[in-house]
Amino acid sequence: MELVQIEDRLDKDFPGLGVGYVSCGIGWYLILRKLIQRVISLDPDISILQIKEKFGEIQFYVNSASPEVNNVISDFAILSGTVCESCGTKDDVTMEGEWVKAFCPECRIDNIV
Ligand SMILES: [Zn+2]
Repeated sequence: MELVQIEDRLDKDFPGLGVGYVSCGIGWYLILRKLIQRVISLDPDISILQIKEKFGEIQFYVNSASPEVNNVISDFAILSGTVCESCGTKDDVTMEGEWVKAFCPECRIDNIV
């Protein structure tokens, strides 16, 4: 449910861009929206290939990235590790536990089976 929601929102924000399948929680929606805005402002012709979560950070793949675009992507990857992937809070977010994912304490309990 969450995955569909974040894609739908980003598709509405960036019509025609073709954000595609987004494999991360809704908590990162605002970060992703800012990241896409920044990347498009640097390169209006850029194509997004894949967006997913890995080791608690956003992985953002594009067809071609200038050094400036790469810098923006890595800055936002680091930022995403400080924001709960599930609810978007910045409070007490950690990547502890067996699954390396950025969660606040409450969402960690909800998301770890
Ligand atoms: Zn949370």
